[in-house]
Amino acid sequence: MSTIQAPKGTYDLLPPDSAVFLAVREAIAAPARRAGYGYVETPGFEHVELFSRGVGESTDIVTKEMYTLTTKGGTQLALRPEGTASVLRAALEGSLHRAGNLPVKLWYSGSYYRYEAPQAGRYRHFSQVGAEALGAEDPMLDAELIILAADAYRALGLRNVRLLLNSLGDRACRPVYRAALQDFLRGLDLDEDTRRRIEINPLRVLDDKRESVQRQLAGAPLITDHLCEACKAYHEQVREQLAAAGVAYEDDPRLVRGLDYYTRTTFEFVHGGLGSQSAVGGGGRYDGLSEMIGGPSLPSVGWALGVDRTVLALRAEGVELPLPAGTDVFAVPLGEEARRTLFAVVTELRRAGVAADFAFGGKGVKNAMKSANRSGARFTLVAGDRDLADAVVQVKDMESGEQTAVPLDGIVAAVKELLA
Ligand code: ATP
Ligand code: MG
Repeated sequence: MSTIQAPKGTYDLLPPDSAVFLAVREAIAAPARRAGYGYVETPGFEHVELFSRGVGESTDIVTKEMYTLTTKGGTQLALRPEGTASVLRAALEGSLHRAGNLPVKLWYSGSYYRYEAPQAGRYRHFSQVGAEALGAEDPMLDAELIILAADAYRALGLRNVRLLLNSLGDRACRPVYRAALQDFLRGLDLDEDTRRRIEINPLRVLDDKRESVQRQLAGAPLITDHLCEACKAYHEQVREQLAAAGVAYEDDPRLVRGLDYYTRTTFEFVHGGLGSQSAVGGGGRYDGLSEMIGGPSLPSVGWALGVDRTVLALRAEGVELPLPAGTDVFAVPLGEEARRTLFAVVTELRRAGVAADFAFGGKGVKNAMKSANRSGARFTLVAGDRDLADAVVQVKDMESGEQTAVPLDGIVAAVKELLA
């Protein structure tokens, strides 16, 4: 072992488990890609203001969890704690939001960083796959995104994912609710930090995970009772589309979520098998975010699903993903001449699209066969001096143990035939 270890709150993805992570990323992205979302990749760090303005000064993410640094030139940067603000910035900077091009639909996949108390399912470096639809106010678009996420979980074989749904209102009705909630919260017995939060972003108090706070929130006014007619109608249409698509949801009038910029549709996917880190993904509509970071009005909606917690959820449910075979064919040469010949065959097989590997390091036949077994290959190619003299390669079926001599000059075609 190296004397230097990975930093606290991080872990490495190593084979064979890393294959599961790749498969999860792909499975989450697949429905979005099929729905016309294009791939976007942004830097791992951004100007601090993007997040302090775009995520919100009153959020834990910005006040406690952000990794910030000052460059030698004096620029204040932050490792990205989430994806939405960056994706919106990139779309604005790249002028993707031209009229006629809306909504701009984008998906992403990457690493995010938050300085949190590490525990199972909560890390300082974690992975998300996200999707954002920028520049359209259409309840069907909100529904589309939720359906795509639900379909991703379903495709992965997860059965215990629940969808919680709420509306946070808009510029018209949210302020009225906000004031009513503030009135209620000011009457409670809360610590100083929380009292400050009441004045900056009272909705966030509803998201407080502490039992002592939650107990006092029992009689808090609900946003559901304060939605304006337009928000009510919008939310009703989202729910209608979800029902029509067979996506089950639970209304949760207390669902707010960690970021400041959400309006109207808000949702979270939770899993029962993950202890207190139960949120596997979440998202919602953020109609005001573009203006908050200096852009034009660009009503948008999106989600980010946690890859790490999705992998934990699969484990909790005992779901084994069908993973692509790493190696189809493994070559075991016996002798120097056979090494050269089989190495050339392996190269040819790979160029023909066959996943092939080779017993490197000149190991003895016993160790080489062990490697062949471990590789999971369906066929092993074995050749020694006598085979080469006969211009054949022995092809061993690893399942049946059966071995046949195949002419060397037709080996690639023969192997492809066997694999088909
Ligand atoms: P939580 O309430 O658990 O802190 P969050 O509301 O901060 O979650 P989001 O910002 O909505 O999470 O991020 C979307 C998803 O990313 C989460 O649902 C979760 O699956 C994942 N995620 C967030 N923070 C972490 C973390 N520190 N470690 C692992 N996964 C995370
Ligand atoms: Mg969090």
